[in-house]
Amino acid sequence: MRDEAISGIFEEARLEGRDYLFEHEAKRLCSFYGMPVTRFMVSRTVEEAVAAAAEMGFPVVLKIVSPQVLHKSDAGGVLLNIEDEEEVRAGYRRIIENVGAKVPEAEIMGILVQEMAPSSTEVIVGSTRDPTFGQTIMFGLGGIFVEILEDVSFRLVPITRADAEEMIREIRAYRILEGARGMPKADQEAIVGILLSTSRMLMECPEIKELDINPVLVYEAGAKIVDARVILG
Ligand code: ADP
Ligand code: MG
Repeated sequence: MRDEAISGIFEEARLEGRDYLFEHEAKRLCSFYGMPVTRFMVSRTVEEAVAAAAEMGFPVVLKIVSPQVLHKSDAGGVLLNIEDEEEVRAGYRRIIENVGAKVPEAEIMGILVQEMAPSSTEVIVGSTRDPTFGQTIMFGLGGIFVEILEDVSFRLVPITRADAEEMIREIRAYRILEGARGMPKADQEAIVGILLSTSRMLMECPEIKELDINPVLVYEAGAKIVDARVILG
């Protein structure tokens, strides 16, 4: 049986009539399954954001929380590398202005303050539900590798550890994870852990119609999920 707190996340979205989870809800869900996510806090005023950032430690990232803004950076709703309290104040207002200009109907629920993860190799883990075969899990490198080269691997869930290892090795860009061309060598065991946890989450949460963990930053030791999107249905 899954934890009641997990059902609570889906229940809250349902009560609010949403067919998706906010980033902070999706990250909470991922963290219930043992996945490494950034620290985060939803603030509803500038002062709350300042306090959250001070508690977390600089630099931080600020992001819009709005039911009308699913693709946050397209709406000017993501500011990276916020270094101090003054930048939090200015950034908070700037995000609200940006989003107001790009998506005038956007209802603003707050600003998500989160830990800024150091840049590194970006990978993505996703899922869609196939009408015939059920939940699938997908793995690839971030950015052009997926969007232009469509260099991804797929399996049906549940997957085994051996499946997860194969999924990583079978993408064409695998050598990048091995540290080719001066890239840092990626912690593949950390990726295996995220794939296995995602598989378990998909098995236990039939509410998930689509999942997009994009990106996961992968280091020489460890990994960190910086964005996650869940569509329900
Ligand atoms: P979107 O809704 O547009 O996908 P993201 O939350 O993915 O917004 O943010 C856009 C980009 O900003 C990410 O792809 C990542 O490169 C960077 N980013 C976002 N959050 C963080 C973070 N906490 N630490 C470091 N980089 C981040
Ligand atoms: Mg993203």
